[in-house]
Amino acid sequence: MFIKTEAIVLRKTFYNDSDAILTLFSKKMGKISAYARGARKPRTMISSVAHPFIYGEFVLRGKPDIYSISSAEIIDSNYSIREDLKKLSYASYFLELCRSSIHEGMTNNRLFSLTVETLEKMNHEGCDLDKIKLAYEIKLLNFSGLKPEVSKCLKCGINNIEALTVFSIADGGVICRDCADERQKQGGIAVSKQFIHLIRYISEKDVDVICRTKINAGMVRHLDKIFELYIKYHMDIKSFKSLDFLKTIQ
Ligand SMILES: [Zn+2]
Repeated sequence: MFIKTEAIVLRKTFYNDSDAILTLFSKKMGKISAYARGARKPRTMISSVAHPFIYGEFVLRGKPDIYSISSAEIIDSNYSIREDLKKLSYASYFLELCRSSIHEGMTNNRLFSLTVETLEKMNHEGCDLDKIKLAYEIKLLNFSGLKPEVSKCLKCGINNIEALTVFSIADGGVICRDCADERQKQGGIAVSKQFIHLIRYISEKDVDVICRTKINAGMVRHLDKIFELYIKYHMDIKSFKSLDFLKTIQ
C-alpha cells in the first residue's frame, strides 16, 4: 500500500553504510519512522531529501511500525537554515521540541502548519530569532493541549486583568491576588498586564504578523525563560540537547 503525504524531516539516524532511518512529522500520520534506502549514497533522489528541515511530499509504503520511502519531492529544502549556525541552532531546537510533543500515528495539523510556516519564515525572510522562538513555544503548547490559562484566574475564574497577579508554572496559568496561596505567591512569577497581553497576542496572531510587530526585546527574553521552564515541567523533559547548545552560542 502506498501513502502520499507532506512531511517534514525531523531527524536522520544513520543505518548501515548506505541507508538511514528518518523521523518524519507527516501531515497524514503524525510522527512516523521511515526507512530511507540509499540515503547515504551521493546523488540519489533519497539522499537529497534525507536531511532534517526538508519539507517535502513523500510516497511511503509498508507498515506503520516502519515505513519505507518509495519516492519524494522537495517542497522547500530550507537551505539557508542549514547554512547559518545561528538559524540552524534555533531551528534544531524547534524540531526537537516538535518531536517531543507529537505522537506516533496522531496527526496535529495546526502544529504541522506552524512548523512549516516557522521554517519558511526563517529560511526566506528572516525574523528576530528570539521572537520566533517564543512564538513557536507558546503556539506549540497551545496546539498540544498544554495551553497555559491566561484569560482568567485558574481558581475563581475572575477575568479582570488587573487582579491577575501570579503566573504559576506548576498550576498552568494565572491566579488572582485573592486566590494565590503562600506556595503560589512564593513559587509563582509576579506578572504584569503587559505580560498577559503579550502571551494572548502571540497566541492569537500568525507567525507572519508577530515577525512584523515590534515587541520589546527584554520582555521577549523574560517570557522566553518562563516558557522554557513551563515546557520542561509540563512535557516532563529535563533538558533539550539542542537548547543547551543554543545557549552556548547566544
Ligand atoms: Zn481567583
